[in-house]
Amino acid sequence: MAGKVDLDGNPIKPITICMIGAGGFIGSHLCEKLMAETPHKVLAVDVCNDKIKHLLEPASLAWADRIQFHRINIKNDSRLEGLIKMADLTINLAAICTPADYNTRPLDTIYSNFIDALPVVKYCSENGKRLIHFSTCEVYGKTIGAFLPKNSPLRQDPTYYVLMEDASPCIFGPIEKQRWSYACAKQLIERLIYAEGAENGLEFTIVRPFNWIGPRMDFIPGIDGPSEGVPRVLACFSNNLLRREPLKLVDGGESQRTFIYIKDAIEAVLLMIENPARANGHIFNVGNPNNEVTVRQLAEMMTQVYSKVSGESSIETPTIDVSSKEFYGEGYDDSDKRIPDMTIINKQLGWNPKTSLWDLLESTLTYQHRTYAEAIKQAMSKTTAN
Ligand code: NAD
Ligand code: UDP
Repeated sequence: MAGKVDLDGNPIKPITICMIGAGGFIGSHLCEKLMAETPHKVLAVDVCNDKIKHLLEPASLAWADRIQFHRINIKNDSRLEGLIKMADLTINLAAICTPADYNTRPLDTIYSNFIDALPVVKYCSENGKRLIHFSTCEVYGKTIGAFLPKNSPLRQDPTYYVLMEDASPCIFGPIEKQRWSYACAKQLIERLIYAEGAENGLEFTIVRPFNWIGPRMDFIPGIDGPSEGVPRVLACFSNNLLRREPLKLVDGGESQRTFIYIKDAIEAVLLMIENPARANGHIFNVGNPNNEVTVRQLAEMMTQVYSKVSGESSIETPTIDVSSKEFYGEGYDDSDKRIPDMTIINKQLGWNPKTSLWDLLESTLTYQHRTYAEAIKQAMSKTTAN
């Protein structure tokens, strides 16, 4: 660890990071990385800590004096400003960020992603502290290509679908499609942070994750989350595979996504943390353009990979189609395609993703099987007995 230098050859000084939302999926992986591979300290803020318990206990852990958990709801806790003041850098990950909530709990979604983030930006700006804020690739909304005629050859032209931080427009659906409440709130907080940078000199970096996936993402309904809950696609499909039920393809599973392994993405975040001169003032796409699939292809690949890692044959009807209205309710809409342009992150941080979709699914589904298969079996046998 000693003697580590940044991308410009300067020694990296240990810093204190106030990480808000540290107990979530991305936060847990970032905390793990910071504890295992850096000398930095983390003030971990969240309403829950289940996903980072292994980093907090026992007190004999090598990094015990470098991580502190603060159970704080940032909506209403006066301790937040003090923690931001104590830190050199604040990373804000806190959000409601599951699509099933965007159209059914639009107010909570907008408050969480915009209103609750405001004091964080304000405290950083007023106290001269650096901020890394987590936004989303969803701020791009739909691609320009989605509006071209179905058979237009222009649909094959990357100009109409590759998403560029400094050039692509943000295209959302009408207000009654409440799906876009999340994207719109994230876009407005991005604009506010950008304006704080321009008018008041806030040192900021904005991260736009493109479908980061891996172990500890979301929850398995009825096991470590509500039975009726609808997590993001990785956990939905994992749940179906674990329960030996068909994977549900929303509106035919035609939407396209690029998936990136969480561990690749965390490397990019660490580069941002340790290279402020290269990261400040930038918005970064963080994704893997080489891992594009339709949701249907994802379902097929997950079915194959799960068979391999569990040793169980797949069921006779591995997928079924459901309408978005049935699955998510009124007001759902979808991003058609998400390919990140990598020019800016490449130029500033020299970062590239490494892990193929097959490999990342293999390690993630091995984790899902090891963590949940037994609990699911027990839960299902109880239901059958009742
Ligand atoms: P997550 O839900 O696992 O983590 C968010 C964490 O924030 C949770 O632990 C939650 O308890 C905490 N939190 C929420 N509101 C809080 C509050 N008021 N006070 C304190 N803690 C609060 O989600 P994630 O996947 O880790 O995402 C982190 C960030 O990255 C979010 O801002 C999300 O919008 C963004 N993002 C993630 C992805 C992805 O691929 N995972 C994609 C796009 C954007
Ligand atoms: N999806 C699906 N079946 C599911 C869950 C999700 O077909 O059980 C689809 C969803 O409609 C979307 C894609 O998978 O097109 C990715 O959904 P996710 O919830 O991961 O978030 P998003 O990428 O839309 O932000």
